[in-house]
Order: sequence, then C-alpha cells, then structure tokens
Amino acid sequence: MCKKINIILCLCMALLHGSAAPAKDPIKALIVTGQNNHNWQASSVILQKYLNESGIFQADIVISPPKGEDMSSFLPDFSAYGAVVLDYNGASWSEAANAAFLEYVKKGGGVVVYHAADNAFPQWKEYNEITGLGGWEGRNEKDGPYVYFADGKEVRDSSPGAGGSHGRQHEYTVVSHTPRHPIMKGLPAKWTHAKDELYDRLRGPARNMTILATAYSDKSTGGTGRDEPVLMTVSWGKGRIFHTVLGHVGNEAEHPAIECPGFIVTFLRGAEWAATGKVSVKAPDHFPEK
Ligand code: ZN
Repeated sequence: MCKKINIILCLCMALLHGSAAPAKDPIKALIVTGQNNHNWQASSVILQKYLNESGIFQADIVISPPKGEDMSSFLPDFSAYGAVVLDYNGASWSEAANAAFLEYVKKGGGVVVYHAADNAFPQWKEYNEITGLGGWEGRNEKDGPYVYFADGKEVRDSSPGAGGSHGRQHEYTVVSHTPRHPIMKGLPAKWTHAKDELYDRLRGPARNMTILATAYSDKSTGGTGRDEPVLMTVSWGKGRIFHTVLGHVGNEAEHPAIECPGFIVTFLRGAEWAATGKVSVKAPDHFPEK
C-alpha cells in the first residue's frame, strides 16, 4: 500500500516543486556517509534522490574512507552547504573534521540526523548535544536521561540502564505532538508508518530539544511499552537540527521504511527547516492517515 502512495506522493512533489516552482537557487545539501552498520550505499542515494527531486535542494554525497582506513584525508567542506545530512555511523573523524562540523553548526548550519547517525560518536560530547538523543555503543546513564512520553507528557528518566534498543520491525503509528511546528503543520495528527525499526530507550543530553512526534513501542513487538520519540528538533549554537530515527535500510531488496511517504515528507520538511527555519514542502494529499 505504501508503495502506491509513494508513487502518488512523488507525482505530487513533482507537480508542486517541478515546473511550477519559482526559479530560486536550490539549497546545497551534503549527505555524509561511507561507514554505517546499515546499507548506506542504498540509503544515501535514496536520500539524494528525494532532496534533488524536491526542487528545493541540490544534494551531494561525500563518502568517507572505508572502515579501518586512515581518516585524516576526510574533511568535508561543511561550510559550503545549507544542510548536512548525517547518514554515517563509523570511525571517528579527524579533529579537523570535527572542528569544521561544530563550526558549521555553531554558525547556523542545518543538520539532519538520520536513523543510525544517532548511534555514532558516543565519546564526542558536542555531537551528542547536537543529536540530542542517541543509542548503543555503550551509552547508559552517564550519557543523559531516557526521554519518552507518558500520558501525553514528556518524561526524563535518569534511572540506570543501557541506551538504545529496538524490537522487531513492524508497521506503527506516528503521533504528532507539535501541530504548529513548521515541520508538522498540516500533517495529520497520526499516520501509519511502513515496516521499520522503532528505536527505544534512547538517552542523551536532550538539551534544547523538542520532540515533534512519538510512536508507541509495544511490548508485544519487543518494545518498551512507552511512547518513544521518533522525530525531534534540537538547537545548538545558531544551528538547527532535525533528527529522524525513522528509515531503516538493511541489505534486503526492499526498503519500505525509507520509501514510506511519512518518512519522505518529514525528511524533506525537516531538512528544509534545518536549512532555512521555514518549510515550503507541502503535505501530500494522500497521507497514510490512521
Ligand atoms: Zn536500522
């Protein structure tokens, strides 16, 4: 079902942002990838396609050296871009690359933290402030509270325990909590997300962070029984960060999680908001509303 809607959405986006779009210079976006415990070769190209077909962005991909190789040559020119999309979960960057990234965000650069990018760099304090929440890689109570929703309210829970987990992949309902936020405005209050991982028990500094949407992590699918954050914004320095935990891409032939219209539209709106503070990407007519 999701696939059909996806085709309709793509047509809608082409109509909205294709020939009818004003002749504005596209925002340059940089997808950072090259190491990940996911199929980054597929995901980075899919994300690039979404960005380029939106009519709003012109996206490049920068690929790090492979795992285990010298990272000193890896120094993306972050400052040349309006949005940096992190599709990276691998070896530490050089100090120069880290400093260039922080300088970019501090000066107002837009960042999209995509799926397992919130697993990366557990020791890098500022990176974890930028992602807000993260998981795995030894994260626990030292890294910050668990953050989730209970009875419609945000909970910060400092009890000890590992950070980051997910149950088995399944379709689930995404619930918006910020209908007036530019990224969420005009989207339904709830929609069905295609089969995906549902991250849970994320922990982090969670400062200057707004949870835009949650999903209920059912114990029957190996979850927590909590409403777990799935879409967030963070501000760091002058930078705007959009964090989506959605969109798992593994080695299977099909990638329903990243192809779902709910993923695509929130990814594009989040990227545009991160780059500009505003959103022009329209909500699709055919949203998989619950
Ligand atoms: Zn995943």
